[in-house]
Amino acid sequence: MNEVKQKIDHLRRVLDRLNHNYYVLNAPSAEDREYDRLMAELTALEAEHPEFDDPNSPTRRVGSDLTREFEQVRHRYPMLSLANTYSEEEVREFVARIDKETDTPAAYCCELKFDGTAISLTYENGRFVRAVTRGDGTVGDDVSANVRTIRSIPMNLMGEGWPAYMEVRGEIYMPHESFGRLNAERADIGEEPFANPRNAAAGTLKQQNSAVVARRGLDAVLYAVQADAPVAPSHYGTLQMLKTWGFKTSSAVRLCRSVDEIMEYIRHWDTERHALPYETDGAVIKVDDTKLQRDLGATAKAPRWAVAYKFKAEQASTRLVSVDFQV
Ligand code: NAD
Repeated sequence: MNEVKQKIDHLRRVLDRLNHNYYVLNAPSAEDREYDRLMAELTALEAEHPEFDDPNSPTRRVGSDLTREFEQVRHRYPMLSLANTYSEEEVREFVARIDKETDTPAAYCCELKFDGTAISLTYENGRFVRAVTRGDGTVGDDVSANVRTIRSIPMNLMGEGWPAYMEVRGEIYMPHESFGRLNAERADIGEEPFANPRNAAAGTLKQQNSAVVARRGLDAVLYAVQADAPVAPSHYGTLQMLKTWGFKTSSAVRLCRSVDEIMEYIRHWDTERHALPYETDGAVIKVDDTKLQRDLGATAKAPRWAVAYKFKAEQASTRLVSVDFQV
């Protein structure tokens, strides 16, 4: 077989395996940087060789957390991932791409990237109906019973103006304090500690016993609303609406109007994040105008109107795990 095809097949198998360990078993078997490097290598090879295109390739799909233990529910609106950037140059390229689509320079809403696990909360007429994980982006696991134990998630909304049906999107995370306590308890009873707060949050959300979940101290931050019509003309406005309805939103949000302002936000939080009571692995830069967001649309994997900027991982906070690349 063609050498390039063999390399592509190998990378796809390795990445499928890493995805399973990470999203389903919540036990990563590689460093994120290494995973991202393999993904970038596969993306480049596929771009050079469109003849080996495959819609099932891990470059084209949202990493799936689906398990057999929960009822699966279809998202009314897909749940996507985010494209990654690692440098100022890549942020500039993103803004330049957006500039091409608009007559006037766009505003960007910059947020922290919470290192937890994505959740979709359905509300009908202001009442909580269910909570579903990202799953494969199209269907997710119904983890409502576990999410009901997270006290900061409202069961009945405050204020007014919510759509009759909406899916509120955000992140379930485990604060450092809960994470430290949980791993200490696990060590006491001889259980393997969780690799990081993200895996601990994702693993906890997939527990069969909600009483265990309630004890573990999960929290949630919400940052998006999906409904048939936008709830506000801007992303920033949407966050304000979420707040008035009783959701916990991030206070580290800033509207930026240039790459310099975006980079200032990123540099600020790259230093200040160490003092936060939860883990953040980057910043998310989102086009603020909801109409422009809709015009820009999305690929099968990520919206075109947003990118993540990943902070450099700290050596000390990353538990090294050996990678078995033999698949
Ligand atoms: P991601 O974590 O890089 O970014 C997308 C996610 O960010 C969204 O689904 C959402 O849940 C979250 N998010 C947090 N704050 C947000 C905010 N303010 N606004 C919007 N979204 C926000 O993407 P992913 O698809 O979940 O995971 C891919 C990444 O996971 C890889 O780049 C890699 O770093 C890591 N990964 C590692 C391994 C491994 O073996 N180490 C395996 C699979 C994935």
